[in-house]
Amino acid sequence: MTNPILSDWNTPFEIAPFATISDDDFTPALEQAMQAHDAEIDTIAANPDTPTFANTIEALEAAGEQMDKVLSVFFTVAGADSNPKREELQRAFSPKLAAHYSRISSNKSLFQRVADLWDRRDELGLTDEQARVLMLSHRGFVRAGAALTGDDDARMQELKARLASLGTSFTQNLLADERDWFMELAEEDLQGLPGFVVDTARAAGQEKGADGPVVTLSRSLIVPFLQFSPRRDLREKAYRAWTARGANGGETDNREIAAEILKLREERAKLLGYDSFAEYKLETEMARTPDRVRDLLMQVWEPAKKRADADADELTQMMQEDGINGPLEAWDWRYYAEKRRKAEHDLDEAALKPYLQLDRMIEASFACANRLFGLEFAPLDVPLYHPDCRAWEVTRKGQHVAVFIGDYFARGSKRSGAWCSAMRGQAKFPNVQTPVVINVCNFAKGDPALLSYDDARTLFHEFGHALHQMLSNVTYESISGTSVARDFVELPSQLYEHWLEVPEVLAEFATHADTGEPMPQEMLEKVLKAAIFDQGFQTVEYVASALVDLAFHDGAAPADPMDKQAEVLAEIGMPSAIGIRHATPHFAHVFAGDGYSSGYYSYMWSEVMDADAFAAFEEAGGAFDPERAKSLEDNILSTGGSREAEDLYLAFRGRLPGVEALLKGRGLIAA
Ligand SMILES: [Zn+2]
Repeated sequence: MTNPILSDWNTPFEIAPFATISDDDFTPALEQAMQAHDAEIDTIAANPDTPTFANTIEALEAAGEQMDKVLSVFFTVAGADSNPKREELQRAFSPKLAAHYSRISSNKSLFQRVADLWDRRDELGLTDEQARVLMLSHRGFVRAGAALTGDDDARMQELKARLASLGTSFTQNLLADERDWFMELAEEDLQGLPGFVVDTARAAGQEKGADGPVVTLSRSLIVPFLQFSPRRDLREKAYRAWTARGANGGETDNREIAAEILKLREERAKLLGYDSFAEYKLETEMARTPDRVRDLLMQVWEPAKKRADADADELTQMMQEDGINGPLEAWDWRYYAEKRRKAEHDLDEAALKPYLQLDRMIEASFACANRLFGLEFAPLDVPLYHPDCRAWEVTRKGQHVAVFIGDYFARGSKRSGAWCSAMRGQAKFPNVQTPVVINVCNFAKGDPALLSYDDARTLFHEFGHALHQMLSNVTYESISGTSVARDFVELPSQLYEHWLEVPEVLAEFATHADTGEPMPQEMLEKVLKAAIFDQGFQTVEYVASALVDLAFHDGAAPADPMDKQAEVLAEIGMPSAIGIRHATPHFAHVFAGDGYSSGYYSYMWSEVMDADAFAAFEEAGGAFDPERAKSLEDNILSTGGSREAEDLYLAFRGRLPGVEALLKGRGLIAA
């Protein structure tokens, strides 16, 4: 019998036939798909004919069709609807997949063909998009080390293996430190803590086998504890433990690991011909150079620090009114900021929620896409992997565009967070392929289901990613949809969040679940104001971490990363009452793997762009300006990675992004 994952999918729009797939099908399907892919790669690499774009690059694009099917089905259910069997499969698949793709990227004869095409690129008569795909393919091989030979090649393999194992140790040490520490609370220590914090502390106590409630180092418990506990001594104790993770000496200390990682990364970059690891990492990003990253961060740093200093004065005064003298400390900030928030603009979440019905917010996200891009959404009745999933057919002027799937509710089988993925990406080669895109969220169920304001933003955010996939209009799948630079990929999603805040959108769709009344103006203003509260602090703790990350990788690796961190913080004048968001011994973004190393800045980079891009609509006459909408689709949402991100942004905006709109949006300069 044929494996249902690998057979033809005779379903509406060829959506995966989830109902006929069992967990036992995954392993044989993956084995078969990897073998088929290996055979395809071998055929391409061993082709006796002179390399051509068609017999090499296009052949690579077309290869791995079975892999796409298995992985899209498996990772959809492994993330959104897991079970012990699927978790076990995921652990088994991940080293197999790493080895599979590493075999391809280190295939010397395959690389020779790509390199040969690259050398003759000007004679091949390629379209712009083909030239781009060739460049990316060649660059990918080179960056993976395919061009290295002899000792250099051997050393590269050693470096990769050692870096992978150091990253794992870093993560495990951090987890061990987080797991081991907890602080027991007596009943009277719970005073001042809201119900949800008390509940979390009691649950944590049970989990740790303590007699009563405890504070742990989990962000979801320690942050609210620091925010609400009036006990300054306990706040200090908890804060010190929290910021000492990975730096407690002994077996789990991460400081030497961090130093070795930085040294090996520098060596790796130099083997590949780059001056520094930052230069290597930023080559593929929109920012391109360390100087441009630093320049942008410093433009944000100065106004943020000014705001934070002014806020520190206010908070110090509040503390003194409590009879505490001496300077405001890092364990005081969140507590007094929370008091101030309550005094200045308390937002009653419970009163707000009935205005944010899930179904109406989905309608709102669709209605904006309709006004901006002419998309229409019709409910689609197809069997999916869980009864909570809903699907829509997306059309424009009667033409099929995509299938959109929403899986909105939290459940035990779903990992936390929210994400967007393409179960099938857009492409025109080797066949026309329309996208099947899914948004997965973790909203609470209810009748009707109601959202918090953060939830509603998340819904718009993920739908922005979905638009980037659904409106994609390129030939090759390897560059379609969200296959863009890391510091560019959050632009469509963060930009789309702005439409939730358009007053006419809230007026139409934020209607009360019982009365149908629109949200009162006063409440709307409170919501918008709450979003900019304490942004001096938030921006300072984040930007400081981003600058330290950059300094670690730009130039020679520091002998002692802790000294380097101190040096950077002294240079920028870090306010004493604000701790850096991620100190080096627990900076997992940078040391657990390569993902965000010299890339932690990218959250801010994207935010600068989304604020600047939305300002383009406002300048043009409104959030739904049709010419701007068309330009956004033509230059950013449909283009995938077919051009450099900077060129795409320039084409849309007519200039590079400036920080002004972000600073205004965060309330760091006057609007
Ligand atoms: Zn995102």
